Amino acid sequence: MISFYPGPSRLYSKIPEFMQEAFEKGALSINHRSPEFIEISKKTITLFKEKLLVPEKYTIFFVSSATECWEIIAQSVIKERSYHFYNGAFGEKWLENTKKLKPNCHGLQFQIEEELSAAKFSVPEEAELIAITHNETSNGTEVSNLSIKSFRTKYPNKLIAVDATSSMAGTFLDFSNADIWYASVQKCFGLPAGMAVMICSPAVIHRAKEIGENRHYNSLISMIERMKEYQTTYTPNVLDIYLLMKVVEMIPSIKETDLKIRIIAENWYDFFGEMKQVELLVKSEKLRSGTVIALTGKEETIKRIKKEAKEKGLLLGNGYGNWKTNTFRIANFPAIEAEEINKLKDFFTTFGLKF
Ligand SMILES: *Cc1c(COP(=O)(O)O)cnc(C)c1O
Repeated sequence: MISFYPGPSRLYSKIPEFMQEAFEKGALSINHRSPEFIEISKKTITLFKEKLLVPEKYTIFFVSSATECWEIIAQSVIKERSYHFYNGAFGEKWLENTKKLKPNCHGLQFQIEEELSAAKFSVPEEAELIAITHNETSNGTEVSNLSIKSFRTKYPNKLIAVDATSSMAGTFLDFSNADIWYASVQKCFGLPAGMAVMICSPAVIHRAKEIGENRHYNSLISMIERMKEYQTTYTPNVLDIYLLMKVVEMIPSIKETDLKIRIIAENWYDFFGEMKQVELLVKSEKLRSGTVIALTGKEETIKRIKKEAKEKGLLLGNGYGNWKTNTFRIANFPAIEAEEINKLKDFFTTFGLKF
C-alpha cells in the first residue's frame, strides 16, 4: 500500500535500515543522561538547524507531539491572552485546547479563500501571543512567509507561535518571522509518529523565565535547563531522535526540497484543474498548500474514489473536520517517490471518465 495520507504518512524508504542501525549500535538502550545520548541529540539539532535554516540563536526541543506543544505554550508561555487565527480544524483545536488552561484566550476564524495578513486583520491590544497555523492540514490552505512577516512587522512586541506540523521539512519556513514553531515528525519528516520538535526564539526563552511556570514535567523552564545539555526532562523517544538525526543528515537543504515540492504541487493542481467530477477545494491559487492537496466532490464520488484507489494499493487521506465527507486529501510530502505519484496520476487518469 502506498500511503498518500497526510499524517501518519509514508516513511522514508531508508527508515527500516536506519532502525536496524539504531538497534545494532545499541542506541535504543542508552540512558538519556549519557554522553552517547548527548552526542546523538547534539548532532540531530546541529544538522536540523543547518538543513532547515533555523537561526543559530533559536533553541530546539524534543517533545512528544504537536498537541503537547499546544499545552506547553498555554501553560508556560501565555500569561493570560493569546489570539488565534484559524480557518480549519487544527487551528480551531489549538484555540480550544488553549482555552482550557487560559480561558481568556480568543481567536478569529477567517475564510479558506481569504488571505491572512496584518493589513486586513488586527490583533487586540491585550493579546501577548499571536497563534497561526501555517499549513491547515484539514483543508489544504497555507499561510505564506510574507503573511507571517506582516504580523511580525505590525506587532513587534507580541510573540508569534506557528503550527507548522504538516509543512516543516516540506516547504521553506522563514523562522526569523516568528518565535515558536513546532511540528510532529509523522508528516513531512517521513518518520514514525511519537515525537515533535518545538523551536523557540530567545524572546520565548526570556518570556518563559519571566513567567517562571514550573508545575509540570514539561514546563518550559525545566525544558530549557535540560536542553542546555542537549537533554530532555523525561526519557525521550530515542528511536525517533535517532531516526530524525539520520533523516536530517540525508535530506538536502530545505530550499531545494521546497523547490521540488512546489513543482509537484503545481503539477497536481494543474492535473486536477482539468478533472471533471472532483475539484480543488481551495480556489485561490496563492492560498493553496504545497504539501496537502484537498479535493472536493459529491459524497458518493469521494467514497468511490477512495475505495477504488485503496483496491489499487493507493491510500488517500480522508476528509477532516468540516470537510470529512465531501473531500479527500493527498499528501505531497518529500518521502513520496516520483514513481508513486505517477501511479496515483495513472489511477486518476484511467478512472477519470468513470468518476
Ligand atoms: C497533525 C497535526 C497536528 C496534531 O499532531 P499530533 O502529533 O497528533 O499532536 C496539529 N496541527 C496540525 C496542523 C497537524 O497537521
